[in-house]
Amino acid sequence: MKIGSFHPPQRTLMGPGPSDVSPRVLEAMSRPTLGHLDPVFVAMMDEVKALLKYAFQTGNELTMPVSAPGSAGMETCFVNLVEPGDKVIICQNGVFGGRMKENVERCGGIAVMVQDEWGRAVDPQKLEDALKANRDAKIVAFVHAETSTGAVSDAKTLAEIAHRYDCLVIADAVTSLAGSPLKVGEWKIDAIYSGTQKCLSCTPGLSPVSFSDAAVERIKSRKSKVQSWFLDLNLVMGYWGGNAKRAYHHTAPINALYGLHEALVILQDEGLENAWARHRKHHLALRSGIEAMGLAFVVPEAERLPQLNAIAIPEGVDDAAVRSMLLSDWQLEIGAGLGAMAGKVWRIGLMGHACNPRNVLLCLSALEDVLVRLKAPVKRGEALAAATGSLMA
Ligand SMILES: *Cc1c(COP(=O)(O)O)cnc(C)c1O
Repeated sequence: MKIGSFHPPQRTLMGPGPSDVSPRVLEAMSRPTLGHLDPVFVAMMDEVKALLKYAFQTGNELTMPVSAPGSAGMETCFVNLVEPGDKVIICQNGVFGGRMKENVERCGGIAVMVQDEWGRAVDPQKLEDALKANRDAKIVAFVHAETSTGAVSDAKTLAEIAHRYDCLVIADAVTSLAGSPLKVGEWKIDAIYSGTQKCLSCTPGLSPVSFSDAAVERIKSRKSKVQSWFLDLNLVMGYWGGNAKRAYHHTAPINALYGLHEALVILQDEGLENAWARHRKHHLALRSGIEAMGLAFVVPEAERLPQLNAIAIPEGVDDAAVRSMLLSDWQLEIGAGLGAMAGKVWRIGLMGHACNPRNVLLCLSALEDVLVRLKAPVKRGEALAAATGSLMA
């Protein structure tokens, strides 16, 4: 058998990521490949760094995309900042806090877990109690936007508390970057990582990161070598660093970086505050429709992420059947529950380019159609009016 070219179907991606990619980004990625030390490419890298500083709202010199997905950005933060024996307090309120624990332990560190309810924000008081009980802790880590549950935590307050106990702060902003207010400089977050496939409207595969001066100091004064050669920032900076002559470290994913550059230009042109407001506006419209249908959100209102909507699956409804009918009949992908929430929730993403009125109405129409056909207990014919009403308000 002769294998032919691959032509993916045209889906609408409204799950937890990847989300719909802007056609401008896809077009940028198809431009001619340059050498990774070509001066024209190197100049573009500097623009990517400047645009990322804007997206993160930071002046940090060490701000760049890691050549691998969000999980590699997470690992970059931990392998560079944690040395064997270091105590790290991790606030966990979903799946991704569990990955942080894995990272700390693989670095030879001691992870102190502060558990919060899944579907809720991290409780700052519990963090403070843990810091009082662990005066030797060196780092506090938490997830700003828990994609597994749809809850946002108060990163500013958590960072403030951590600094009062002389800890560095590592925050996961994979889903929050460009979707929810995030101010890395003002909030004094020392190490932060994100991903390109959530609210940046870009393809998966890159992880923007940023490190404060205090974090860079910590990395430079390490007693032991960073256990990962690829992610060792002392080496990566030889390629991505400031004024020094760039030296080969690894071959940058050239065309993927064209895509990120374009995505960041789109974000700059829209304006960060406008992007945050757009995510909120469409979340409110989706919410009106979901509630008009008689479905309910899992996360309490004040702790909800606009870009990730966790909806309780009504009693007796076949989770997998709904998602497969949405995919086959409507070309629409929504997310399943993850970890403790598997089978209990659907996760509807409104991220980046996918966050628009058309998708809100498409998702509500599709979900209502499928649920009615499966004879689920939903109210018919009210969701669209509620959503359009909210969009016009
Ligand atoms: C998606 C996600 C990650 C992992 O990113 P990958 O690109 O899948 O490696 C980490 N943390 C959070 C909060 C995420 O949503």
